[in-house]
Amino acid sequence: MPTKTEALIKQIAIAKKSSIEQLVPVLAGEDNRPLWQKADEIRKKYCGNEVHLRGIIEFSNFCRCNCLYCGLRKENKVLPRYRMKPDEIVAIAKDAYQVGYKTIVLQSGEDPYYTKEVLSYVIRKIKELGEIAVTLSIGEREYQEYAQWKKDGTDRYLLKHETADSVLYQKLHPHSSLEKRIEGLRWLKSLGYQTGSGFMVGLPGQTLETIAQDLLLLKDLDVEMAGIGPFIPHPQTPLGQEIKTIDSSLLTLKAVALARIILKRTHLPTTTALEVATNTNAFCAGANVIMRKVEPLAYRQLYEIYPQAFDEEKTLAQERKAVEEYIRSFGRTVSTTKGDAIKIEQQKYEEAD
Ligand code: SF4
Repeated sequence: MPTKTEALIKQIAIAKKSSIEQLVPVLAGEDNRPLWQKADEIRKKYCGNEVHLRGIIEFSNFCRCNCLYCGLRKENKVLPRYRMKPDEIVAIAKDAYQVGYKTIVLQSGEDPYYTKEVLSYVIRKIKELGEIAVTLSIGEREYQEYAQWKKDGTDRYLLKHETADSVLYQKLHPHSSLEKRIEGLRWLKSLGYQTGSGFMVGLPGQTLETIAQDLLLLKDLDVEMAGIGPFIPHPQTPLGQEIKTIDSSLLTLKAVALARIILKRTHLPTTTALEVATNTNAFCAGANVIMRKVEPLAYRQLYEIYPQAFDEEKTLAQERKAVEEYIRSFGRTVSTTKGDAIKIEQQKYEEAD
C-alpha cells in the first residue's frame, strides 16, 4: 500500500498540470526517500546518466540594480568593482574550451557599459572557437539586444524569475516587476533561445504555496533550464541585515526534485549556492548539470551575490579534472557534448535517423 506521499508523487509525475494542493504536502513532508527516488528515476529515463558541465565567466560585478538580497547591488559601496575587457573575456573562454568546457555562460550584474555591439563582438569571437555554446546571464535588456545576440550565435539565456509572488518580487526588486520579467522570458522563447529561469528558496515572506507556484510557473514557461537555489543572507544587503542565518537547503533539494518530476527533460543544475549551503549535491535529487567558475580567482572572490569560501588557486585543467572525478564519484558520466536542451538533442537525433 503506497503512503500518502508516494501516492501524491505518483499523481504529480503523471499529471499534465499538477496543482498547488498536490505540491505543498510533498514540500512539507518528512519522508523524502520516495521524492529522491522518483526524481532520480525520471532524470535517468529522460536525461540519461550524463552530467553537463558549464564554465561561467563572471565578467563584471557592476550592477545598476538594488535587489535586496544581492551582494552586487549598487548600494553595496564596500565591494571593489571590476569589468573585464572584451578580449580578456574571449581569452578566458578559449582557455576553458581548451580544457573541455563546451558551454560558456557569460554572467554579470546588469551593466549597460557592455553595449549591444560590445557583447556582439564577444559572442562572435567565442563562437569562432569551435563547437561551443554561449549562454547569456546578464539580466533584463531590450528586445532588440536579445534579437541581435541571438543572430550573433548565442544559444541560451538565463533569466531567473526569482519568486512567482508578484508582491514579494516587487519588494525584492525595486527596479522591475514580475510581469516585466515574464515578458522578457517570453521574448527570449519567441526569439528561439534555449531559455532558463529559476527561483530562490527560503526568502523571508515566501510560503510553501509560493514555492509550488514557482514550480508551476516553470512548467507554464516551458523552460529548457531551471536554476533553483537557497537564499543565503549577505551581510552587506538589507535582507542580510534582517536575517543573519537560514538553512533552506533541504527545502531547496525538495524543490529541485519536484522540478525534475514535473518538468521531465529540463536541464537542472546543482547550483553553486546549493553546494555552499549543503556541502552536498543535488545529483541524487534530479540534477544533471554542474556549473563551474572559470575566471581567475581574484575575480571570483569579488563576484559575491552571497558569501562563499574559495579553495586556493588551481589551474583550469586541475579544476576540470577534479569536477569530472566528483561527477564520476556518483556513478555518473561526464558529457562530451554541448549539452543543448534535451528536446533539441532528440530532434537532431531523429533528423539524422
Ligand atoms: S540580483 Fe542581479 S540584478 Fe539584482 S543586484 Fe544582483 S546582480 Fe544586480
